[in-house]
Amino acid sequence: MNTLNDRAAWLGAGGATCATLPAPRVRTHRLVLLGPPGAGKGTQAELLCRALGTCHLSTGDIFRAAQCAAEPSPALRDALATMRRGDLVPDNVVVALVRERAGCLRCQGGFLLDGFPRTQAQAEALDVLLTEQGLTLDAVLSYELPLEEIVARLGGRRTCPRCKAVYHVVTRPPRAEGTCDQCGGRLVQREDDRPESIRNRMRAYEESTRPLADYYARKGTLIPVLASGTPEEVLSRSLEALKQRASGESTRAEIGKATAEERTVLDDERRLV
Ligand code: ADP
Ligand code: AMP
Repeated sequence: MNTLNDRAAWLGAGGATCATLPAPRVRTHRLVLLGPPGAGKGTQAELLCRALGTCHLSTGDIFRAAQCAAEPSPALRDALATMRRGDLVPDNVVVALVRERAGCLRCQGGFLLDGFPRTQAQAEALDVLLTEQGLTLDAVLSYELPLEEIVARLGGRRTCPRCKAVYHVVTRPPRAEGTCDQCGGRLVQREDDRPESIRNRMRAYEESTRPLADYYARKGTLIPVLASGTPEEVLSRSLEALKQRASGESTRAEIGKATAEERTVLDDERRLV
């Protein structure tokens, strides 16, 4: 049985609904994955979605899926050229695409945003969207990795255009060379994984996306996660960090409750005096 959520609604115009509903979970997670290109966000998204039953929402996947569109709009054509260079697509285009798919944010199993937001303006637009949908963000997992490891990961990345699975020629090879384990699709190297595009993407990350760590730290939602080690090690680090955050939240809620009870006792005592 397919345990991954169907992402057709996200990759298309957003009108469809998930065909594969997630199993009921004790807790719904609404998360953002932050980090430089190649840190392993897509890989972790795949593993986290299996573990948590969330829906994987990647803005990069929307653009790659749109490459196959028979007649892309002029705005989309410009966006695709920007993507190939490794630059950021303008905020208004990205936000409009996410807004068209706002229903996916209400996915029963929660969501995992991968590659969005990437600028302060996008982060603020996401805040507005979530408020409109009556939702809050639980946490922002921020993956950190030294530059030489990033370059090695991007250079060996191979992806499946059909099911979006991510591989690495050395660290995560498919069972049969060049063929996707999950759907049998032919694996490709992304156009923007060439050296010139990688340089642009790293510059865009440093200038526009890295500052978002401070934005979310100020909101109290940032969870820094070391992205070194095997994907499974990074996954358990991420799950452990989420667990600790959740138990911290319930402890804070307990303290809040106790304080409220104490306040009632004090009020009663005052009334008796
Ligand atoms: P991002 O989405 O952040 O750009 P990806 O998830 O696509 O990154 O990963 C980039 C490359 O690194 C892929 O080839 C992937 O297979 C590989 N990779 C991801 N996580 C790890 C890891 N923990 N160890 C080794 N290689 C990894
Ligand atoms: P990704 O798959 O997340 O690495 O994204 C691939 C490319 O798509 C990026 O290098 C950008 O050109 C474009 N892109 C994806 N998401 C965004 C975003 N939120 N803002 C601007 N550009 C984006």
